[in-house]
Amino acid sequence: MTRDTGIRPYTPAIREEAYLLCAKRDGHKCKNCKRVPAKQVKNPELEVPYLTVDHIDGNENNNPADSLNWQLLCQSCNNKKRKMPAKRDTKPDKFARYKQYRALHERVSMSEVTGAISREMDKNDRAEMEFRRFTEEAVASLSEVKESVLLDAGAMNHLRKFKENISQATLARYLAKWCNPINGDYERFKIDERQHIRRSRDE
Ligand SMILES: [Zn+2]
Repeated sequence: MTRDTGIRPYTPAIREEAYLLCAKRDGHKCKNCKRVPAKQVKNPELEVPYLTVDHIDGNENNNPADSLNWQLLCQSCNNKKRKMPAKRDTKPDKFARYKQYRALHERVSMSEVTGAISREMDKNDRAEMEFRRFTEEAVASLSEVKESVLLDAGAMNHLRKFKENISQATLARYLAKWCNPINGDYERFKIDERQHIRRSRDE
């Protein structure tokens, strides 16, 4: 029985793991000011150049796998936390070169991770759009479709079209969203007590 103290060197691999875990847990934005990285939004007021992984206890080598010592912060919030003045201090900083190098290194590595996140998001959007199109066609031509049949056929269609598997649970989640009257935007389909799907305006 070993006790995970969480003390391990902060390698680039751990930084990527930390970034992804925090983005998944807290959303892809600064934990403090809630601004998001550039390219995510159009409004420059709401965006920051990039986010960095901050060690909440200030110890860069405290990296427990439960991710509780990590959070995403933007540069200005990170600087405030470290009580580093954003503007140039009048005192010469003997670590300036090192900090510059480090900031550059983090930015390159983070842009790769950000790319991976947006590719994953694109993939999900594409899957939902395709299943939406498929469902609309099926409901238009058959007027109503049994949910289990639609999920089966939808998963097969996805595999044929994108050469990758998608779980029926994911498709069922999309379907539930479109059938849920609370989501006004999505109210296009209805599911009846026999688990048949049809257009909501047919009711
Ligand atoms: Zn911030």
